[in-house]
Amino acid sequence: MGRPARVEPFARRIVDWQRAHGRRDLPWQGQRDPYRVWLSEIMLQQTQVATVREYYVRFLQVFPDVQALAAAPLDDVLALWSGLGYYSRARNLHRCARAVVELHGGRFPASSDALAQLPGIGKSTAAAIAAFCHGERAAILDGNVKRVLARHLGFDADLAQSGPQRALWVKAQALLPESDAMAAYTQGLMDLGATACTRNAPRCGACPVANGCEARKTGRTALIPAPRPRKALPEKSVTWLLLRSRGRLLMEKRPAPGLWGGLWVFPEAPGRDVRGHCRRSFGCEIASRTPLAPLEHGFTHFRLHIRPLLCHVAQKPFPSAPGRQWFAVDEAAAAAVPAPVRKLVLSLAK
Ligand code: SF4
Repeated sequence: MGRPARVEPFARRIVDWQRAHGRRDLPWQGQRDPYRVWLSEIMLQQTQVATVREYYVRFLQVFPDVQALAAAPLDDVLALWSGLGYYSRARNLHRCARAVVELHGGRFPASSDALAQLPGIGKSTAAAIAAFCHGERAAILDGNVKRVLARHLGFDADLAQSGPQRALWVKAQALLPESDAMAAYTQGLMDLGATACTRNAPRCGACPVANGCEARKTGRTALIPAPRPRKALPEKSVTWLLLRSRGRLLMEKRPAPGLWGGLWVFPEAPGRDVRGHCRRSFGCEIASRTPLAPLEHGFTHFRLHIRPLLCHVAQKPFPSAPGRQWFAVDEAAAAAVPAPVRKLVLSLAK
């Protein structure tokens, strides 16, 4: 069955543009190693390229292959992920590595359908791995690519809804080139979304598919994809107890799954009676308390206001126990901790 007339020009232009003008200097580019492609795709979800670069290189130094990652304790994986956010990605990464080793003999399956069965690998990530590593004709549809395709096609339905999403997948699949160009095409769409067809200020003059772009022709680039209504995020407040005893800081491991699951976080004060709480829960008397500068941390679904309270412990407290540990300050900075905890730890190290 023949394809629509616009198919080949669109893919051809994306491929040619990628080869001439696409990004060249990303450490994960030009890879056919599924482990490295997978790692970069997971890290790039929700996170800027500039941030991912450093994490990606460091991660590979410690875990150069899927066997090394599968054999590592989750704590070590979370420690390397610390500061990158969205920690369920790291937990799934670890589960996925173990599944690849245990179920697939240490080799990622080749097809996007089989890849999408693994923990933490969604349809678009599976397609990217299969396209880059095996040339499979599978369409990706991450946030950037959704925007490029929706604008190009003049597709103005609400992409938060599953029906329009499914329809866009079908259209994305119909635009694919032959498999020998799949890697360049997939990379080209990603590059176009990141560098030219940006959310707020698309540079249509630099776009290889500007001629056929419905959003540009009809002056609707600001309306496609349909902007999501902005909801005011709920606010939450918490007091963190930075219990310091003989140069060590007490932290508790958050249960997983859950917010910051598997990470070490300072204990929270359940109410105003900090001294009584510390006596009952940690076996320690507080000699003095110093409020530190408050912090804010944004999650996708709420904003957290953190009031840190540095508490000097007067007598020997309860020792470390499962899920509760006294860390030397330099150990705490290198442990699996979320960004605001690390910030506080580093401020105490100065
Ligand atoms: S012409 Fe403009 S809006 Fe259309 S795909 Fe290119 S950069 Fe995006």
